[in-house]
Amino acid sequence: MPDIYPSFYKRFKCIANRCEDSCCKDWDINIDSDTEAFYNTVEGAFGDKLRRHAVTDEYGERVFRCVEGKCPFWNSDMLCDIFIELGEERLSQTCGGFPRVRIDYGDFTEHLLSFACPEAARLMLGEKEGAYSSFGGEDELFACQDSSDSMSFLLKARERTAGLLLDRSLPFAYRLADCLEFNAQVQSVLNGEEPAPLELDDAQIDGAGFIFDMHLKFEIMSGEWRKAVSDAAQSGLVPRVDFTDDFEKFALYYVYRYYLEAINSGDVMYSIKRIVCAYIVTGAIDALFARQGYPYPRMRILQRYSKEVEHSYDNTEMLNTEFDRDKRFSAEELIRLLESF
Ligand code: SF4
Repeated sequence: MPDIYPSFYKRFKCIANRCEDSCCKDWDINIDSDTEAFYNTVEGAFGDKLRRHAVTDEYGERVFRCVEGKCPFWNSDMLCDIFIELGEERLSQTCGGFPRVRIDYGDFTEHLLSFACPEAARLMLGEKEGAYSSFGGEDELFACQDSSDSMSFLLKARERTAGLLLDRSLPFAYRLADCLEFNAQVQSVLNGEEPAPLELDDAQIDGAGFIFDMHLKFEIMSGEWRKAVSDAAQSGLVPRVDFTDDFEKFALYYVYRYYLEAINSGDVMYSIKRIVCAYIVTGAIDALFARQGYPYPRMRILQRYSKEVEHSYDNTEMLNTEFDRDKRFSAEELIRLLESF
């Protein structure tokens, strides 16, 4: 079974207490059952602390609950006490693995890094062309050719989508519009329907306010992030041309991270619409920050979007629900909005 990696994957190294937005901040930490079984054998005061902080969350998962915005084992030197006391091999799968993402599709496995990690985000933003050149190639197509026509179809559609995102003859908003249009056809095929051109009318566009409103209804961890989204919403700014160079890499990450979820959900539009929302929100924050002399580097805007929105199950669910419910998220309406920029 082929394992597929992007070019930057093996260069990742955690920078621990030099990290500006550690994964030990803001999140509850999942504890897998093997790790918890070991923690239950640890003696002394440290063992007592491990057991005291392990709780069951609202999803039934065992976690170390974040205390005052940080993991209870993240010490004042911004280092992990579990790592120090018990060794790296005793970290939970979540802590030991992050930001590595392993997606097993049965016939092949893809490996990525999460954009929510600042060091991984820096690697991805610094990467030149072809970071994902081993994705969607012969290895994957050959691996799934006997078992799933749908997967072969989705792999080819994903490569076409990535190609549209990288069509530098067009402004990025137009590339996204092309992705929406192309994937509306893909969706028709998945639905067993005859693909037909989208019908775009020329009624008045009311702007992107509804996308910001939804992001402000999300579960938000950081007050600074809430303020950035709120200020960007009020600014009415749209993404600047030079934002494209970096957003292009974020968009590719999203495509490779989420597009093939359609093999289970039967929906390719969710992943594309999530990219459109990310573009509009992070692009407006970037334009606002450019005016303010970048109080945070651009990398932090994209990284924080990933941490706040992408990595929240509830926020992702809310996005998908709104995509299904609200006509303003239809492919036609989003294309008209993008073409108005
Ligand atoms: S977010 Fe990334 S670099 Fe920062 S502490 Fe976690 S794994 Fe290390």
